[in-house]
Amino acid sequence: MTTLPLLPNFLAGRWQTGAGNGTTLLDPVLGTSLVRVSNTGLDLAEGFAFAREQGGDALRALTYKQRAGLLSEIVKVLQANRDAYYEIATANCGTVTKDSAVDIDGGIFTLGYYAKQGEALGDATCLLDGERIRMGKDPVFQTQHVLNPTRGVALFINAFNFPSWGLWEKAAPALLSGVPVIVKPATATAWLTQRMVQDVVDAGILPAGALSVICGSSAGLMDQLQPFDVVSFTGSAETARIIRSHPAVAERSVRCNIEADSLNSALLDPAATEGSEAFNLLVAEVAREMTGKSGQKCTAIRRILVPRAVFDAAAQAIGTKLAKTTVGNPRNEAARMGSLVSREQFDSVTAGIAHLQTEAETLFDGRSATLVDADPTVAACVAPVLLGHRQPAQAKVLHEVEVFGPVATLMAYDDEAQAYALIRRGEGSLVASVYSTDPTFMARAALALADSHGRVHMISPDVAASQTGHGNVMPMSLHGGPGRAGGGEELGGMRALGFYHRRSAVQASSAALDALAVSGTTLKY
Ligand code: NAP
Repeated sequence: MTTLPLLPNFLAGRWQTGAGNGTTLLDPVLGTSLVRVSNTGLDLAEGFAFAREQGGDALRALTYKQRAGLLSEIVKVLQANRDAYYEIATANCGTVTKDSAVDIDGGIFTLGYYAKQGEALGDATCLLDGERIRMGKDPVFQTQHVLNPTRGVALFINAFNFPSWGLWEKAAPALLSGVPVIVKPATATAWLTQRMVQDVVDAGILPAGALSVICGSSAGLMDQLQPFDVVSFTGSAETARIIRSHPAVAERSVRCNIEADSLNSALLDPAATEGSEAFNLLVAEVAREMTGKSGQKCTAIRRILVPRAVFDAAAQAIGTKLAKTTVGNPRNEAARMGSLVSREQFDSVTAGIAHLQTEAETLFDGRSATLVDADPTVAACVAPVLLGHRQPAQAKVLHEVEVFGPVATLMAYDDEAQAYALIRRGEGSLVASVYSTDPTFMARAALALADSHGRVHMISPDVAASQTGHGNVMPMSLHGGPGRAGGGEELGGMRALGFYHRRSAVQASSAALDALAVSGTTLKY
C-alpha cells in the first residue's frame, strides 16, 4: 500500500477522495513519485446536478460586474500562492521557470483581463446582441437578439501541457458568463490544477458548486452532459473524435468546443535575404518557439517556410541558436529547457522524430549533448531537432504529423502561391506567423492565410520589441483554428462569452423591449 498523498476531488460542494490506489503522478526529470489521483467511486451524477443547480443558480443571480469581482478575488488568491505553483510545475511538469511562467502567470493574467473587461459590463444580467431590428412596416414590432447564460455546466477536459492556463483561460469567461465549471485536468500534470482549485475553494470566494475539479479517469464524464451543458476539450485529434461522436454531442446537441493539434507555420517574405531584418526575426522566433515549453505548445511552429535561396542559411542560423539551448533539470539554472511531461511523451516524441525523418533530412540534432544535471535513462528530456525538406510539396507526413516536442521542419518554397499552398496542407492551424519588412506583402499574406488559421501573427522590425510571440495566446485575440486544429474558438476578448451564452431573438413591442433592456447591456467586442 502506497503512502503517497492522494489528491482529493472537489465535487458536489465537498472534498471527496477516490477509491483504490489511483494513478501516481511522477517527476518527469527525476522519475520520482509525487502524489496520486483517483476519482473511482465518485457520484458524478450528483456532482454535475449540484454544479448545474446550486452553482448555476448562485452565479446567475449575480451581475456581470459582481462575477468580475469574483475573478479579481481569484487573481489575488492565486498570486498569493504563486511560489507553491512554481514548485509543483518544476516537480510535475519538468518546466524551467520561464516556461512555468507562461502557464501560471499566463493563467492569472487571463483571469485579470476578464475581471477588468467584465467589470465594464456593469450591473447587467444578460447581454444585448446588436441593435433592435424592425420586423415589418409598423416600427413598434421589433426583434432584439439577447444572449443569456446557459443553464448548464461547463465541463473542461484539458491537455497536459497547460494545467494552469488551460483551466483559467476557459474558466474566466465561463464564470464571468455565470456558468459553473467542472474541470478534469490531464492526469499526468493534474496536480497544479487541483492545487489551484483547492486554494480558490479554501478561500471561500465562489458560491458552492461554481468550481469543481475531478482528477483521474475521464470515464463517465461525457455521459453526465445534458442539452444545456457545454464541453470544452483540449487535446489530441484522436480523443477529439471520441468527444465529438459521444451521444451527448451527437444526439443531445451539447455545445462542444475542440482545440486539437495543429501544424503551425512560420513564413519568411520571398524577398528576404540572408541576414536581413526579416530573416533574423524569423530565426530568433523559430528558435524560441521550438524550445519554449520543450515544444509542448499547441501553437508552436512546426513548419518553417523560407525562400529556396536562403534555405541553407536559415538551417545554419537556426541550428546555431538551437545549439545554445542547454537541456536538463529545471532546478539547475544552467538548463535553459526542461523536460517533456512524461517518459511516455519522450517515447512518443522520439518515435515521432524518426517518423518525420522518413521524409526529411536532419539539419540539426541536439540530442547527443549531455543533459544538465539529469540522467538520460530516466529524464524525459529531448533536445531540439531541426529537420528539413527541399521539395516539401512531395512530402506527406511532414504536413500531417504533429510531434509534440522541440521539433520543426524547414521547408523551401519557390513562390508566394506555393508557400500558401504548402501552409494549407496543414488543413487548418491555430496560428501562422509571417516575417517581413513589407506591409503590402504582410497584408496579402494575412488575407491568404486567415481563412485557414485562427490567428495570423505578423512580425516586422517595427514591432520586434513589442510583439507578443508567435505561440503566445493573448486573451484579447482569438485562439483556435479550423479543420484539424479542431474548429474551435476561444478567447478573443468578449467573443469568448458567446460559447457560454444562448442567443435568442426576442420579438416584441418596443415597450416590452425597453423593459427587457433594463436587465441588459449591449455586448461590444
Ligand atoms: P489527449 O490524450 O487527447 O488528452 C486530453 C484530455 O482528454 C486529457 O484530460 C485526457 O485524460 C482526456 N481523455 C483521454 N481519453 C478520453 C476519452 N476517451 N474521453 C474523454 N476524455 C479523454 O491529449 P494530450 O496528450 O493530453 O495533449 C496533447 C495534445 O493536445 C497535442 O496534440 C496538442 O496539440 C493538443 N493541444 C491543443 C491545444 C489547443 O489549444 N489547440 C492546447 C494544448 C494541447 P487523461 O490525461 O486522464 O488521459
